[in-house]
Amino acid sequence: MSESVDAIVVGAGPVGCAAAHALADRGARVVVVERMERGPASPFAVEWLHPTAADVLLRWGLALPEGGHVRGTGVSMHLADEGHEPVVVPYRRGMRAVSMPHAELVDALRDSVVERPGVEVLTCARVTSATPDGTVRLTRDGQETRLRADLVVAADGRSSGVRRALFGHTPQTVVSHSAGVVLEGPGLPVYESFQVASEVPGHGVAIYSIAPDAIRVVLDVPPTHPRPPSLHAYLHRHFVPLMPEVLRRPLADALAAGRLTWSATGFRPRVHYGQGRLALVGDAVGHIHPILAAGTTLGIQDALSLAAHGSAEVYAREHAGAGAATGRVAMALYRLLSRQEPGTAQTARMAVDQLRLSPALRDAVGDLLTGDEPGAAHLPVVTAFSTMLGIPAQDIAAAYGPDAYLLSRR
Ligand SMILES: Cc1cc2nc3c(=O)[nH]c(=O)nc-3n(C[C@H](O)[C@H](O)[C@H](O)COP(=O)(O)OP(=O)(O)OC[C@H]3O[C@@H](n4cnc5c(N)ncnc54)[C@H](O)[C@@H]3O)c2cc1C
Repeated sequence: MSESVDAIVVGAGPVGCAAAHALADRGARVVVVERMERGPASPFAVEWLHPTAADVLLRWGLALPEGGHVRGTGVSMHLADEGHEPVVVPYRRGMRAVSMPHAELVDALRDSVVERPGVEVLTCARVTSATPDGTVRLTRDGQETRLRADLVVAADGRSSGVRRALFGHTPQTVVSHSAGVVLEGPGLPVYESFQVASEVPGHGVAIYSIAPDAIRVVLDVPPTHPRPPSLHAYLHRHFVPLMPEVLRRPLADALAAGRLTWSATGFRPRVHYGQGRLALVGDAVGHIHPILAAGTTLGIQDALSLAAHGSAEVYAREHAGAGAATGRVAMALYRLLSRQEPGTAQTARMAVDQLRLSPALRDAVGDLLTGDEPGAAHLPVVTAFSTMLGIPAQDIAAAYGPDAYLLSRR
């Protein structure tokens, strides 16, 4: 292991890898410490990368599996009971998302970092403490080691031990349970846009292809759902009718076979970005509901901002609040699509109508969700829309500040 480094990154998830690349771009010598040997920390999380995040990672050497990925063209939202075609928010300027299986995405990102000059990756190494004076303690092969650096980057995910030790317990608000399943087989379509649909209040689905022959389906289930043995019939009743005709049988079979992967989903406010020499990035700061696939894009914005500011202290001061608009828009759209609260059904229809009628609004909302540079000309239309959704105007204005430009300027 190198004796002297400029930065230590805790965690080699998507955002830890992005932080290592961004710091190495600026000449830093970086050590990344990851507790796993290979593979992701959880069986299913990020698979769909909106274009700006995808472009940055591809430039850093993310390898796409031959015949095992899809380049996405936009997001489409569907209130299935309103009888209209979905609202499509296409990516602009021909930009494309990357979609691929979660485990392969995590491994490919890690490989890109392992091959990067100036970056050393320690796997099977668990960080036991990281402090604002730049000290990191880790255990590996039963041995304790202490490292020091000018910058320590906590990218240890939504259950971040570093955040807890530094700022105490910030509770996650659980709003639903996600149940994911991959449907495979001959004759299935390829979905090039990220499809979000809801019908019965509180029940939503996301559908997208992760390979030409594999479709990810995510069921967004209210936390009050029944437990087995009535769970199967409940899921069948609420979710199979939400599917396009061609996916109903495959989903019913997957439910019957119990092939779902569950995780609690919700949000944790993104409040603390660091202290002293210690910076938090990605889900370690906080997270939003995954239904609109914006989490990794937010985290990569953190990583780029940290590298650009050069110190944890400046980053924690200047970057706080950045990404708030994306988080708020994602959560507001989630609330609309899930329609769990009284009165939101009518607001949902009004919002979807506005999106349908206004190309400028679709572009602007797309920009906010995908981390693209928001066009200043769209500010009034976004502000009006956000007010309707109950989003504070200053959060939207923040998206038009300097930090929002970092991702697209790379
Ligand atoms: C069901 C679901 C679906 C999602 N789908 C999408 C999507 O399609 N698109 C999208 O953009 N986002 C999606 N997200 C969100 C996305 O997964 C996260 O925003 C993203 O993974 C955050 O990356 P990260 O690197 O901050 O954290 P993580 O991915 O959690 O990585 C943290 C890393 O730190 C390591 N680690 C933790 N503790 C230690 C320690 N003490 N020592 C050493 N290493 C440690 C872990 O092993 C792990 O490798 C989804 C989330 C969920 C739950």
